[in-house]
Amino acid sequence: MSLKNNNVFDSVWVDINLATINETDYGIIEDAALAIKDGKIAWLGAKKDLPEFDALATPLYQGRGAWVTPGLIDCHSHIVYGGDRAKEFEMRLEGASYQDIAAAGGGIVSTVKATREADEETLYVAAKNRLNALMKEGVTTVEIKSGYGLDVENELKMLRIARLLGQHHPVDVKTTFLGAHALPPEFKDNADGYIDLVCGEMLEAVVAEDLADAVDAFCESVGFNLEQTRRVFDAAKQHGLPVKLHAEQMSNLGGSELAASYQGLSVDHIEYLDEQGVKAIKAAGTVAVVLPGAFYFLRETQQPPIELLRQHQVPMAIATDANPGSSPLCSIQLMLNMACTLFRMTPYEALAGVTIHAAKALGVEEEVGTLEVGKQADFVVWDINHPAQLAYQFGVNPCQQVIKAGNIV
Ligand SMILES: [Zn+2]
Repeated sequence: MSLKNNNVFDSVWVDINLATINETDYGIIEDAALAIKDGKIAWLGAKKDLPEFDALATPLYQGRGAWVTPGLIDCHSHIVYGGDRAKEFEMRLEGASYQDIAAAGGGIVSTVKATREADEETLYVAAKNRLNALMKEGVTTVEIKSGYGLDVENELKMLRIARLLGQHHPVDVKTTFLGAHALPPEFKDNADGYIDLVCGEMLEAVVAEDLADAVDAFCESVGFNLEQTRRVFDAAKQHGLPVKLHAEQMSNLGGSELAASYQGLSVDHIEYLDEQGVKAIKAAGTVAVVLPGAFYFLRETQQPPIELLRQHQVPMAIATDANPGSSPLCSIQLMLNMACTLFRMTPYEALAGVTIHAAKALGVEEEVGTLEVGKQADFVVWDINHPAQLAYQFGVNPCQQVIKAGNIV
């Protein structure tokens, strides 16, 4: 007798409402059912059409009218880091200037120092706690960037931890090498010298250990210029890695057009993106990622060009940008709310921004991001009356169950 499971399905969910998510709307199917086989969605549709299956041998879950969406995707985070910047936050609110804070060792340099000094276990546990917080709100895939090591040893350390999290945590992790995040103190006044290191020894070591799924940079007056960013992209291209970019956050340097010319996966922040840039990313199929948490925390006033992005039908994604300096928050539900309240996105656009479009921003749209037969069975069961409720409220977590590759986590 074979021990092979010959059932049509491994598990079946009934009495649910589906928000399957597509390019134009929620893709709602009410009074629905969803069936899983081998970690994938094997069937979905109206419950009355559910094919026959061995009801005695197949676990059956009653949704009792709950809503089911695709697992949420946080496509931009920096959750591996040492220390925190609460003291700096307090100093600023007590009236300290940027110079005072820098003189006290604050700013990104303090996170670089704390990350370099932290051992791997400390960094792993702290990042795991942040990942847990995201998962409890329905996140099943997270992108994690390096960028606080800024030397070969510590950039590798960050990426190894991110990879390890992906292996041991139910949430899928995509890693991004962000060596060109900031200038380390050792390279003060020698940005080109640092970019030599990033494009040479550092990226080679990252590739040798297969630690990165993509390469990112911070193209900004306080980051790296267009030419330096181009060199990082050329190096990524040589190694066959896709690129994405922190672009147009504080000014318009044309970083988005540059990223588009490399068929970038995404351009992120983009408050200062103009129509020329919007057209360029549209033509390249690059996703526009907006980060309302950083906009809020930095008390920015320049709005990302949501209406232009709509007009040109550019896919828009939303992410936490979880990081200790400019977005110290690990709540995807808060991002849904802020995308609507701060950027005037619609609740559908917000939800598409953490599902179908976030998947595209990571290059995983064939596997996850929508509820479709054949896709990985990553989904969330919500105690809500309508999908718009996910963006409408926060602080009351309606997430009942998170299912990852068919398993309840
Ligand atoms: Zn970022």
